[in-house]
Amino acid sequence: MLEVLRRIIQEVNGARNLDVALSTMVRRIRKAMHTDVCSFYLHDAELGQLVLMETIGLRTQAVGQVTLPQGEGLVGLVASREEPLNLEDAQAHPHFRYFEATGEERYSSFLGVPIIHQRRTLGVLVVQQAEKRRYDEEDEAFLVTMAAQLAGVLAHALATGSFTRPSLDGQAMFTGVAASPGMAIGEVVVIAPPADLNSVPDLIPADVDYEITRLREAIDRVREEIRSAGERLASRISAQELALFEVYQQMLGEAALSQEVVKRIREGQWAPGALADVVRRHVQYLERVDDDYLRERAADVRDLGRRVLAHLQEETPQTPDVYPDSTILVGDEISVAMLGEVPRDKLAGLVSVRGSSTSHVAIIARAMGLPTVLGMVDLPLSRLGGARVVLDGHRGRLFVRPSAELESHYQSLIDEERALAEVLEHEQDLPSRTPDDYDMPLMVNTGLAVEAAASLKNRISGVGLYRTEVPFMITERFPGEQEQTRLYRKQLESFAPLPVVMRTLDIGGDKDLPYFPIEEANPFLGWRGIRVTLDHPEVLMVQLRAMLRASVGLDNLQVLLPMVTNVDEVDDALKLLDRAIIELGEEGVEVNRPRVGVMLEVPATLYQLDALAERVDFFSVGSNDLTQYLLAVDRNNPRVAELYDACHPAVLSAMARLATESAALRMPISVCGELAGDPAGALLLMGMGFNSLSMNAPSLPRVRAAIRRVSLKAARQLVEETLCLDTPAAVRRHLSAQLGEWQLAHLLPPRD
Ligand code: PEP
Ligand code: MG
Repeated sequence: MLEVLRRIIQEVNGARNLDVALSTMVRRIRKAMHTDVCSFYLHDAELGQLVLMETIGLRTQAVGQVTLPQGEGLVGLVASREEPLNLEDAQAHPHFRYFEATGEERYSSFLGVPIIHQRRTLGVLVVQQAEKRRYDEEDEAFLVTMAAQLAGVLAHALATGSFTRPSLDGQAMFTGVAASPGMAIGEVVVIAPPADLNSVPDLIPADVDYEITRLREAIDRVREEIRSAGERLASRISAQELALFEVYQQMLGEAALSQEVVKRIREGQWAPGALADVVRRHVQYLERVDDDYLRERAADVRDLGRRVLAHLQEETPQTPDVYPDSTILVGDEISVAMLGEVPRDKLAGLVSVRGSSTSHVAIIARAMGLPTVLGMVDLPLSRLGGARVVLDGHRGRLFVRPSAELESHYQSLIDEERALAEVLEHEQDLPSRTPDDYDMPLMVNTGLAVEAAASLKNRISGVGLYRTEVPFMITERFPGEQEQTRLYRKQLESFAPLPVVMRTLDIGGDKDLPYFPIEEANPFLGWRGIRVTLDHPEVLMVQLRAMLRASVGLDNLQVLLPMVTNVDEVDDALKLLDRAIIELGEEGVEVNRPRVGVMLEVPATLYQLDALAERVDFFSVGSNDLTQYLLAVDRNNPRVAELYDACHPAVLSAMARLATESAALRMPISVCGELAGDPAGALLLMGMGFNSLSMNAPSLPRVRAAIRRVSLKAARQLVEETLCLDTPAAVRRHLSAQLGEWQLAHLLPPRD
């Protein structure tokens, strides 16, 4: 059974067209379960109905005709109860309903299972049999497994519009994780990693002969590459391995792959699309056969396909020379480097299939004030290029080819938001002081160029977090000591005499350096932050020396250690810092010892505050990671994004405890995670007693506006009330109700 399951799943996942996938699926299921009927009913949420969409065994005329309200009939019952229903004598069940069009009365036995994707019922899968038969446990498990698999494929197809439900019009909506607030209307530019067969767009060729010629040239180049690679390796590998190169040559030969691709081009696909189609088909076929040798060849075909594609892409640039005025950059995964490719004044928004609201590209997007939605897992990348879209970064939505009404609705929302920003701008030079005269120091998080430093300087108390890894991510090797010194000097000078908290390199997790890849099964629990830099003192020493050098004469540097878990990591880092100071002294560069802080982001540190306090000068809470580690929710995984919430009562109670205990230890403590940039979060943190809040610059206006309108006393009261609540939802509800009462609802991001 397992083997049958695996094959059906492969076929369904591999099908390019959902109609084909569904029809294959019902046929395969019927055969595998030795039953008379297999049908698929689609749940249309808008109409509240189930529609028969595919069947083998019932009358095909019934497809699209038989509809039943959710809760009615056996199929409706399966959908509303969200559980399997297994009946030997279906007609005896009180919910049985007779549909003449299906010819259903002939079938006695019934097994139906719901198809559920992320808690939403998408449809029902049903098998039926003429004679009385009790489907056994194995049958039920089989159908449940099929339904679970179909759920993902179906959700994707529905979202992409490649399978239209009866009531869906031309406009399509996709949802993801709201990662950076704001809204934008613009044109999609799809940015694809080079040579990725899965993200090649579909295009109709303008000149078929030209497409064929360039395909042949690309194939010739790959053949030449393989030939010379074979020659180079001839003396070093066995004859058997060398024979593989011959196989590659044959695969690329006239009679094989290339002819099929040419045929596909003539059918109306441009060369890269035709190549991707053919390679995909071969790979699927090879992966399915019962022969280990042939299955291995699937990888070879894919590799050859990628090589040919790389040559085809050499001529057609992946990104346009001229970006549209309002570019919405869309990709499978958007890296910091990709962001840098689009001129800032043309970039209006970001969307990606992977990532979540606290992934680092999201943090950078917020710092840039760029509306962003990540984790949009259902996005049809290959069909989006050039499409007009509306992006809603507050609610995590992307509308493709919006209707005129929707577009004008959003245009008015965008205008309102702009007007609010202008109003808030007027009070940005005023102190962040509460009505009861409490000054709450606000700081900024930096990492990108400090272009706005001059205007920011009068409005803040310093830089609470300079993420040094960001400049490391956009270079092609570790920057040297001089290069780093220049970079840090600029940062320190721009904000002097205000303090600048520079964090030592925090790579690992989702922050990879292209030249220092870290491949791990659990990167967020692995080699990250100080764990990496202590293992590479040569990297940390260069960085510390550069920071110290940069601070000469300014003395506004503070050093922050990320991902600390053990006290001895702090001791080791301090030893290196002291050594760097001595070394520089010996070289004639006199530097003062900067204040040093520890990031509190691994839960273990919560229980060793006194030991840490003996060693350093301040604490800074990384609420992004603290939330991830306390809740055991990967901050990057869209599937569990709804569970990731810094307003979880456990996180808030840990934060409150941190503030109280640090005060008792007389240790200054700040928050530099995203919670500090949320107006409601900032009020809570102020009420808890944090000494400063550090956030992305675009968050400052709303946070300042909130602080200037709510007294410290009221914020403390808010903390007291909030800490009594049991669920994240109750906390969020309470915060919005309270902000509403204070007439501050407009400061919160709009939600449904
Ligand atoms: C945090 O974890 O809250 C933090 C500020 O650091 P980063 O988001 O860079 O991990
Ligand atoms: Mg962190």
